[in-house]
Amino acid sequence: MISLPILPTTVIGSYPRPKWFREIIKGYKNGRYGEELLKEASDDAVVSVISDQEEVGIDIPSDGEMRRDEMVEYFAERIEGFRFYGPVRVWGNNFFRKPAVVSKITYIRPIVVDEYLFLRRHSSRPVVKVTITGPYTIADWSFNEYYNSKEELAFELAKVIGTEIKKLEEVGSLFVQVDEPALTTHPKEMDWAVQAINKAVEGVNIKVGLHVCYSNYSLLKPYFDELRVTQFALEFANRGFRDLEVVKGLSKELGFGVIDVHSRVVEEPEYVAKALFKIMEYLSPEYIYVNPDCGLKLLPRSIAKAKLRAMVEGVMIVRRELAKKGLTEIPLRNKV
Ligand SMILES: [Zn+2]
Repeated sequence: MISLPILPTTVIGSYPRPKWFREIIKGYKNGRYGEELLKEASDDAVVSVISDQEEVGIDIPSDGEMRRDEMVEYFAERIEGFRFYGPVRVWGNNFFRKPAVVSKITYIRPIVVDEYLFLRRHSSRPVVKVTITGPYTIADWSFNEYYNSKEELAFELAKVIGTEIKKLEEVGSLFVQVDEPALTTHPKEMDWAVQAINKAVEGVNIKVGLHVCYSNYSLLKPYFDELRVTQFALEFANRGFRDLEVVKGLSKELGFGVIDVHSRVVEEPEYVAKALFKIMEYLSPEYIYVNPDCGLKLLPRSIAKAKLRAMVEGVMIVRRELAKKGLTEIPLRNKV
C-alpha cells in the first residue's frame, strides 16, 4: 500500500507555460516551426514545470497541462463527433473555439494516456495526478447539433471519458481528477449531471477526485454521498474561507483550496496554516489534501511557484503540530 505524508500537497492541474514555450507555440501556429520542435519543446516544458513543483515540495505533481490550450477544446479535438466553429469569448479576454457535436460521439484513441506516461517517467514522486475534463462540462460548453438532449450527449461523453479513465488505470495511473467547473451552473440539470459523472467512473478502482470551483457548494453538498468519487477538490481561498461548514460530515476526502489563483499576492505560510487549522474543525486531517483553488495557468510562472512554496511551508507548520499527536502519514485511498 502506498502512503503519503499527512495533508498531501498537490495542484489542481494547470501551471503557467514557460515564456519560451509560448514563443515556440506561437511560431508553430504561424508555420515557423514544425511538429518535431513543438513536441520536443512540449516535453521540455513538462519537465520544467514538474521540476518547479517538486523543488518547492509538492507531493503529487501534475504535468501542468502544458500540452492543452483549453480544457474542453483539447478533449473535443480528440473525440470523434465534434467539429469546431470560430472562437467565442468565455470570460475577460479569453477565447476558445467552441466545439459542436455533429455526429455520434465515439472514442477513437487514448486522449491523455501519453501525457500520464510522460509525467510518470519524469516525476520522482510515487503518486502523480492526471486531470480529465468531465462529461457534463464538455456537454455544457459545446453546441449540441446531433443528440436529442444535452442529457443524452452527456451520457455518451461519460462512456468515452470512462473508457479513458480505465485506460489510465490499466497503464498504472493512481490518481485521476475529473474537472467539472460547470456542474452547479444549471441546478435543474444536476440530478442527471451527477449520474453522468458516476457513469464515467463506473468500474474504476483508482483514486478519483472531482474538482468544482467558483460554485455554490450548497448545491453540490446534497450530492456528496451520491457522487462515486474519493475526493472533492474545492476552492475556498478566493471566497475568504467562507462556507467551510459545507464539508461538515463529509465522508470523503477534501482537496482544500488554500491559494487564490486570481490574485498575484503570494500568501504567507502562516495564512495557509491558519486556514488548515480552521478546516480541521470540520474535517479530520487524515481526510484533507491541500491544493490551490484552481489551475495556476493565468499567473506569472514565478508567482505560481512562490504560491506553491508558501502553500507547502504552511502545510509544514501544521504537520509539525500533527506529528506531536503521532499523525504523520495517510494511506492512498482508492475509489470504492
Ligand atoms: Zn477550477
